Amino acid sequence: MAREASASAQADMKEFDAVVVGAGFAGMYMLHRLRGLGLTARVFEAGDGVGGTWYWNRYPGARCDVESLEYQYGFSDEIQRGWTWTERYAAQPEILRYQNYVADRLDLRRDIQFETRVTAATYDERAGLWTVETDRGDRVTARFCVMATGCLSAARVPDFPGLGDYEGEWYHTGDWPHAGVDFTGKRVGVVGTGSSGIQSIPLIAEQASHLTVFQRTANFTLPAGNRPLAREEIEKSKETLLDDRAHARTTPGGIICFEYNETLAADMTPEERYRELDKRWHQGGFAFLGAFGDLMASPEANDVAADYARAEMRKVIRNPAVVDILLPDDHPVGVKRLCLDTHYLETFNEPHVDIVDVRAAPIERITPKGIVSGGKEYEVDCIVFATGFDAMTGALNSIDITGRNGTKLREKWAAGPRTYLGLGSAGFPNLFFITGPGSPSVLSNMIVSIEQHVDWISDCIRKLTAGNIRSIEARPDAEDQWVEHVNELASATLYPQANSWYMGANIPGKPRVFMPYTGGVGVYGEKLAEVAAADYEGFTLGS
Ligand code: FAD
Ligand code: NAP
Repeated sequence: MAREASASAQADMKEFDAVVVGAGFAGMYMLHRLRGLGLTARVFEAGDGVGGTWYWNRYPGARCDVESLEYQYGFSDEIQRGWTWTERYAAQPEILRYQNYVADRLDLRRDIQFETRVTAATYDERAGLWTVETDRGDRVTARFCVMATGCLSAARVPDFPGLGDYEGEWYHTGDWPHAGVDFTGKRVGVVGTGSSGIQSIPLIAEQASHLTVFQRTANFTLPAGNRPLAREEIEKSKETLLDDRAHARTTPGGIICFEYNETLAADMTPEERYRELDKRWHQGGFAFLGAFGDLMASPEANDVAADYARAEMRKVIRNPAVVDILLPDDHPVGVKRLCLDTHYLETFNEPHVDIVDVRAAPIERITPKGIVSGGKEYEVDCIVFATGFDAMTGALNSIDITGRNGTKLREKWAAGPRTYLGLGSAGFPNLFFITGPGSPSVLSNMIVSIEQHVDWISDCIRKLTAGNIRSIEARPDAEDQWVEHVNELASATLYPQANSWYMGANIPGKPRVFMPYTGGVGVYGEKLAEVAAADYEGFTLGS
């Protein structure tokens, strides 16, 4: 009864201490921490449930690529002990169930307004308040505004001419129908062979009468080695999760199921290098990228790993006509996200599965009956676009964010995102980004990075509130130095050598800037702690 009364009071309320946009892992935890500070908060979420990525990406085969025992919240012993994962890499329905379990345990939904998209956020400097507007006509104010909008939440279908006239059904992996899709007996075309394509293609092939995969870039992919979890490893994880998480926060990737070998490739014999690669390839997961200390920085070291990977991939492909198409040859291994698969390459051994190389002959248009590439029409009953996202900046730039003096975030970021620490941007007081550009974010176990940011932001808000400090804002000089530092670090790696979404290269016209911070979660966490301890050095505090 008391809860209902309080829920209805919140529904009418137009002023909050904080507004949070998004109810994925980030927004859910942010809400929990804001409540813990005794603040009022409203979360707006475009979907009709919690979960974010795992609410939207319901395509067949969707599962995590960071192991389930690490891809979970680590802030509550009670919560983690109350949940039992079943597989090494949990599938989407299980992850979404977990998020709903957390929402239940923390009673989160009463402060989340679902099916509501935030369209604008405007800072009123005199009042020191953000006004947040939605597509449902809401207009609320808040002192703090936290963007938990997700790095991979703006699904993108390329602008193919003719799609509007296509007579079949089409889907994007990142906006999959809740009821599922039955491809039985259908001719299906899948466009895209990133992680989403690579996870879904084997399962779509099981149902389709014929499958045509349209591939622009061949990707490095290795067997995930998914399996049911054993009772003992689950129990052990429950005992150690909080300590493990503290350890994970000190590592480069926020992951502890493997260690990085610090020895440089040149200091190992060819046999030692092979043994290290072979062990890690068969371990499954991202361990492979930690085989040598310089795998992501030295072209020679990377070549050794890439050659090994291609040789392993080649072993699986029995159809000689497709080997050269499926083996990646135009980028170093790891600089586009390494894909983990379950029988992906094997799928192309099936007689009803074809691959079309659209690198040489790009998709020209969609016709009422299918897809045209290289002047040839491929007739299909359904098209699946596994074509990815306007990553890292897409969701933020689709909100009309106006800071001090009428500065528009999307104009400020026209040549690429500019942040201090990935947490805030000069000219936008009291606006926080969770896992924003300029932070480790998508190069890490994202739940570790989300918790790192939410904890920092909560602590900051607590100190501002306690000290009667009205605002916090990144200083332009600190931001410039940080952007330069992030660029310098990235250019010392091989990452900028690929046309990846990390670089914005998948979106025509998007500036080519390497967006995440490559220095690692541990080093980055030390920097965050130093900044907070030095009274938020690099930020201006307004009274
Ligand atoms: P999201 O989960 O993306 O949630 C953001 C939410 O904000 C969405 O629900 C969206 O609807 C909402 N939103 C955005 N804009 C607005 C607006 N204007 N108004 C209202 N609501 C809005 N990371 C890993 O570390 N390991 C993995 O194994 C892994 N697997 C992945 C698999 C897939 C298929 C994808 C797409 C990503 C994966 N990621 C993985 C990255 C994943 O996005 C993060 O791990 C994590 O789920 C992000 O949580 P989040 O809350 O920051 O963002
Ligand atoms: P993605 O990695 O960006 O892949 C998109 C694919 O579509 C690429 O193969 C791309 O080719 C292709 N494509 C895009 N536009 C095209 C066009 N006009 N013509 C032809 N092909 C086109 O997107 P994603 O697979 O959805 O994955 C995005 C990220 O989400 C991943 O990197 C990962 O971080 C996360 N994710 C994780 C998992 C997991 O395993 N847990 C699963 C899915 C997603 P190019 O490469 O040439 O651009």
